[in-house]
Amino acid sequence: MKRILPVIIILITASLIGIIFIQVQWIQSMLKIKEEQLAEKVTKAMDMVGQDLMEQKGTLPNLKNPKFRPGLVLPSEQLLNELMRPSTIAKNYTSFEIDEKLRKAFDLNGIKDTKFEFAITSSVGLYQYELKSKNFLPEYEDTVRNRAFVYLLQVPSGSDYESLVPEERMILVVPNIKHFVFTQLRWMIGGAILFTLILCAAFYVTLNALLRQKKLSEIKNDFINNMTHEFKTPLATISLAVDAMRNEKVLQDKQKMDYFSGIIKEENKRMNKQVETILQASLMDRQEIQLNKKLIHVHDVIRAVIDNFDLQMADKNATDEMQLNAKNDLIEADEVHFTNLISNLVDNAVKYSKENLLLKLSTSNAGKSILIRIEDNGIGMSKETQKRIFEKFYRAHTGNIHNVKGFGLGLSYVKTMVDAHEGKIKVESTIGKGTVFTIEMALSHKEEKIPA
Ligand code: ADP
Repeated sequence: MKRILPVIIILITASLIGIIFIQVQWIQSMLKIKEEQLAEKVTKAMDMVGQDLMEQKGTLPNLKNPKFRPGLVLPSEQLLNELMRPSTIAKNYTSFEIDEKLRKAFDLNGIKDTKFEFAITSSVGLYQYELKSKNFLPEYEDTVRNRAFVYLLQVPSGSDYESLVPEERMILVVPNIKHFVFTQLRWMIGGAILFTLILCAAFYVTLNALLRQKKLSEIKNDFINNMTHEFKTPLATISLAVDAMRNEKVLQDKQKMDYFSGIIKEENKRMNKQVETILQASLMDRQEIQLNKKLIHVHDVIRAVIDNFDLQMADKNATDEMQLNAKNDLIEADEVHFTNLISNLVDNAVKYSKENLLLKLSTSNAGKSILIRIEDNGIGMSKETQKRIFEKFYRAHTGNIHNVKGFGLGLSYVKTMVDAHEGKIKVESTIGKGTVFTIEMALSHKEEKIPA
């Protein structure tokens, strides 16, 4: 599992990059092919129009010329000259007509939507352009974006006017041809991008789930190891105590019996507390916390908790300093959970400290809330650790903390409870100096009923 995962990640990432690369290539060549296809069709359409125009130009006299009136028996010399002079496209057609012809030809070739500009040029005369559409010139000049097509309007060889007529050309410009082709392919390109994005997103989600799974299995292992340790110690102690109690000498000594049974009771309590912690965690998992809220005095809870820690504090040569300054300490909370919460924080302060612990507990009012500060001068923690302590099962793995046992559930319970009570908790800590936890809880707006 450990080795397969990175290999899979690398393979999938490489394939994704490969697919994206191939798609880009494919789209590029698709664009080129489409452009060529369009160019071919444009050329075809121009051929059609060009041949149509040439039929008029090469053979017949200029019937459309208004100067020619049928029925006139003897045309004047001038008119005759005019008639016999080789005609040009411009004489036969207006640019509107040519536009129409081109449009029709485009339609026939299935490229109706393609925009175009055209011009007819001639090799004689002052004006190079005989005819041209409105935007022809600017579009013709832009050779970067636009593509020009040229059709030579040549008189068919062997016709009457061959070599007499001026050479003419039809120039057609398709503006922004690349963009035009691109818009035609937009659904395909959009689809390709969309599916690639979906693929990437799916990969990301899967990867995340995999990594989470991996982390979870690590956490599970850690947890089982921890739990085994946590239970083994009291079990061993109890076993030793029972062995001692079986001793004849001890059996007869009431004081010793009391001592050993006291140890058993104490260890039993410890184990019970641990089972409780694990149960609470699993309850929180299923979000089955039911708060049994009632009015409680924060100061009473703090005092009770500190009393409970007397023994442990004495062990660490610890002193406590209480500054319960809040004028109003009445909150609505679940007494059991709230007591556990404070108890967990005090427990940590004691656990993660050296000798001569100075535990400071203070309260103050701020607006409609009460602030509870629990400060120790213990080992402290790094910024990284501070970010993660409220995560379930998280334990800092550094330094000499290893000899302190725990499941990493205490603070996640604290956080869940503070949230459930709609309070706030924050932590400030410096390695080697100590840690401060501050809890903010809303004061009750209910009046306490004072028993008469
Ligand atoms: P546990 O104490 O069972 O390991 P917690 O959730 O109570 O789990 O605490 C998580 C981690 O946060 C601890 O492993 C410890 O590294 C760190 N921590 C908690 N409280 C303190 C404190 N007062 N001082 C230093 N580190 C602390």
